[in-house]
Amino acid sequence: MKVRVRFAPSPTGEIHIGNIRTAIFNWLFARKEDGTFILRIEDTDRERSTEEFKEIIFRELKWLGLDVDEGVGAGGKYGPYQQMERLEIYREYARILEKKGLAYPCFCSPEELEADREKAALEGKDPRYSGRCRDLSPEKRAIAREQKTPEALRFKNNASGPVTFEDMIRGEISFDAEPLDDFVLMKSDGSPTYNFACVVDDYNMEITHVIRGEDHISNTPKQILVYRALGWEPPKFAHLPLILDKDRKRMKKRSQEAEVFISRYREMGYLPEAMLNYLALLGWSDESGEEVLSREELIQGFSLERIKHSGAIFDREKLDWMNGVYIRKLDLEELRERARPFLVKKGIEPDAEKYDYLLFALQEKVGTLEEMGVMAVEFTGDLQYEDPEKAREIFRQERVDEVLKILQEKIRGKEKITPEEGKKILKETGKELGVKGKMVFQPARWALTGKGSGPDLNYLLSFLGPEEAVQRLEKALQKRKD
Ligand code: GLU
Repeated sequence: MKVRVRFAPSPTGEIHIGNIRTAIFNWLFARKEDGTFILRIEDTDRERSTEEFKEIIFRELKWLGLDVDEGVGAGGKYGPYQQMERLEIYREYARILEKKGLAYPCFCSPEELEADREKAALEGKDPRYSGRCRDLSPEKRAIAREQKTPEALRFKNNASGPVTFEDMIRGEISFDAEPLDDFVLMKSDGSPTYNFACVVDDYNMEITHVIRGEDHISNTPKQILVYRALGWEPPKFAHLPLILDKDRKRMKKRSQEAEVFISRYREMGYLPEAMLNYLALLGWSDESGEEVLSREELIQGFSLERIKHSGAIFDREKLDWMNGVYIRKLDLEELRERARPFLVKKGIEPDAEKYDYLLFALQEKVGTLEEMGVMAVEFTGDLQYEDPEKAREIFRQERVDEVLKILQEKIRGKEKITPEEGKKILKETGKELGVKGKMVFQPARWALTGKGSGPDLNYLLSFLGPEEAVQRLEKALQKRKD
């Protein structure tokens, strides 16, 4: 049987990390099993669904390289793939269930239902449907319809005992059937509820594995009851562990520590290949124990059996580390292209060749491209000593004046300095004066960058160029005398 999986987001908000991780796991599974990855848009919440959010879904999937085989935007023979275009299909199955006596029309008004809920709350009971419309006589139904009373369709839940299913990640899961209640299948506005539409679609689209967030576990028994009522075999289920923040709490929206919208990560300068890799590790690990895995390695190593059931911790520091690893993998051309918007945002037009040296220097140091922009500013603006006292102290050390002067001499008049030349100059200065390397590097770094530590000095020297470097060395010589 060919694997068919779906990612079924609701376009009711910006797509967040949890949704994207679900998409990634479905996609990896499809690719690994040579299956089909389907995109279904669940837009039955008419008030909250928008075209804009739908576009965002496409954009983010594309950014991460999660190519869709079938579904909205890709076509396919099981369409339409957008639920609001499938209303007739749901209505058809609703009629079948009603005819079989497994569902019934409910004419209760929102006010009545609210009053029932309040009553149950007062009595300390669970809010269950009162059953008011469960056994209405055909005459009463006809009257209600004649009066055009808004009508929903409820599932007639006659199940008793447990509803059990085998979850591929969590093993056997059981829910008591009775509290599942006579849940609504079709709303009075003619649209289906999530639990009904999901079953109709998963079955008709021949989905083999439903891979989704753990927050849907409690929906699964209801869906199984619908499968049974329609006489259908349910697909396999795999519920993914929740994503938790560092305090082991469910990730909140817009917390500083763990921004939840995937788009923000792009804006902050995370690379899609790093995000794909990192998110794939939220709940899954490769057998080898390796963490930096290419797209191909992720696919090859992926299996549902290796998904953990305990919550997956979103660790921003680890993400930054991983993103840094991917930044360092970029060749110059890619680095230029990807870093450009982040430099431009900081007012730097990195067109001149010398900026390549700056990029090389920063590439080794940063966790994100945004950080690259921030650091670039430090080297493109006027020289500022991060600690003027300390700088003076260093420049006043014995023989440092000689160091600075020799460096000046060696640099002055040159048209440019390559990193190799820079390296040579620094080394020779030490040799000529018979001083240790540190006695050259430390004052040189403070003189050229205003700081005690930072990116590779040879690259920075090339970036600054001879003229600026000579001036900065001069400034350091003056500072000795302050
Ligand atoms: N539209 C649902 C969601 O976004 C889909 C859940 C499912 O995969 O069944 O949570």
